[in-house]
Amino acid sequence: MEPRVVFNEEYCKGCGLCVSVCPKGIISLAEHLNGKGYRPAAVMEQEACISCAACGRVCPDGVITVYRPDKQKTA
Ligand code: SF4
Ligand code: SF4
Repeated sequence: MEPRVVFNEEYCKGCGLCVSVCPKGIISLAEHLNGKGYRPAAVMEQEACISCAACGRVCPDGVITVYRPDKQKTA
């Protein structure tokens, strides 16, 4: 499936705000460092994301893009 939440990790400063607001608890800080020396936020379980966009709203640095899956038409 397409990723629902994408992090532009080089812009992340590892503040952890997104980690604390995710209602699904699926955001964590990576073990590796980005180019600025911070541990960037990431989501491994993309299928658990509900595209609520709470993370994208809270991020002070515009790191996160949230995609919504195409709505299926019901007959
Ligand atoms: S869109 Fe919502 S569920 Fe998905 S990672 Fe962000 S805060 Fe978590
Ligand atoms: S809120 Fe933004 S800057 Fe802070 S850890 Fe999450 S993605 Fe990185």
